[in-house]
Amino acid sequence: MKIHEYQARQLLAEAGIPVPGGTMVTSIDEATTAAKTLLDDGATLLVVKAQVHAGGRGKAGFVKLCRTHEEVTKAATYMFNNLMVSIQTGPEGLDVTKVLIAEGVDIASEYYLAITMDRAKGANALIASSEGGVEIETVAHENPDAILTQNIDPLVGLHEYQARKMAFDLGFTGKQARQASSIMMKLAKLVEDTDASLAEINPLIITPGSDSQPEGQVMAIDAKFDFDDNALFRHPNIKAMFDPTEENASELKAAEFELSFIALDGNIGCLVNGAGLAMATMDIIKLHGGSPANFLDVGGDATLEAVTEAFRIILADDKVEGVLVNIFGGIMKCDVIAEAIVSAAKEVGFTVPLVVRLEGTNVDIAREILKAAEIEIPTMQTADNLEDAAARVATAVSTAC
Ligand code: GDP
Ligand code: MN
Repeated sequence: MKIHEYQARQLLAEAGIPVPGGTMVTSIDEATTAAKTLLDDGATLLVVKAQVHAGGRGKAGFVKLCRTHEEVTKAATYMFNNLMVSIQTGPEGLDVTKVLIAEGVDIASEYYLAITMDRAKGANALIASSEGGVEIETVAHENPDAILTQNIDPLVGLHEYQARKMAFDLGFTGKQARQASSIMMKLAKLVEDTDASLAEINPLIITPGSDSQPEGQVMAIDAKFDFDDNALFRHPNIKAMFDPTEENASELKAAEFELSFIALDGNIGCLVNGAGLAMATMDIIKLHGGSPANFLDVGGDATLEAVTEAFRIILADDKVEGVLVNIFGGIMKCDVIAEAIVSAAKEVGFTVPLVVRLEGTNVDIAREILKAAEIEIPTMQTADNLEDAAARVATAVSTAC
């Protein structure tokens, strides 16, 4: 599960890592008010940042430095009214419904700092670079030596000496090095405490020296977290940060009915029971020259209502030019699927070719139900086996377009 930057900043602040203050807003008016409050409190520089589950916002124009509340209003208006398109979003972009108005800081230099799983070592690693701010992928590609790594022992955690070495290797000295290594230790503990699979601060910055802080201050001004979904039950505070507006609408709808829906790139919608059968179904569709648009796994004991919803979800996908139903009835009864096909035909209508292959529990009853509904569902064909079903749907789709 991913969270927004404003939520990540909150976690960092709670862990004692310095982060500039800020407020998340959901409207232009709120943005203006938040800006006035921060300016009244003495801030001289503000930063307006779109809150979406994707990076590359800076280059896309969705991170804007402002000095007045009028500038903040203008920046927020732009962000709420335009899709954010960056290298991480794909050309379709993301709608912005939340914006962070934060205190801006002056930057002397930017660093990259992260903790994530090193799969080869089977343990977390602390990763850092003095070439922060820009995409770390570019640094990894063009200048791999600029990326430093310290492995984290899963039993004892990050050692102080490892954090200190990392801070010195990044070029920090004196007080800055102490601040940086303290941030690394706190980040490692936060990752451990929250079952995060990724914690990334990019950039970690050092501010220019001032009268009160002659050596500058090390702080986080952007952060990203990803959490292990299977561990969320241990962290209700993190689970509460879930933002459904950032998720695929069909996948959410399916989850509501305890169905699993996976969106893919092709044009054949697949309704199956069981992940193994889903894989086999996709393979055989491909073998016959077709391409799956999605697969929807109704599992073992879905109700008529849930299976009807499953068809609604599949048919709502514009990419779907044909549907393949492949059910091997064990606990799932074929007649429930047949009833759902009939009710989906009534409620939504199958305007695209539908190929049905049913086998197993109550298949005879199911065949009778479908036979009786043949006239109401003219685009339906029944198949004898999976091979036949895949060939039929692939042909139906290729001749339809
Ligand atoms: P991202 O592009 O989505 O990763 O968004 P970031 O929050 O990392 O911002 C991108 C870049 O904008 C940073 O690398 C900084 O160079 C700049 N930036 C962000 N916040 C501030 C700020 O408070 N002050 C200054 N001077 N620059 C900032
Ligand atoms: Mn960033």
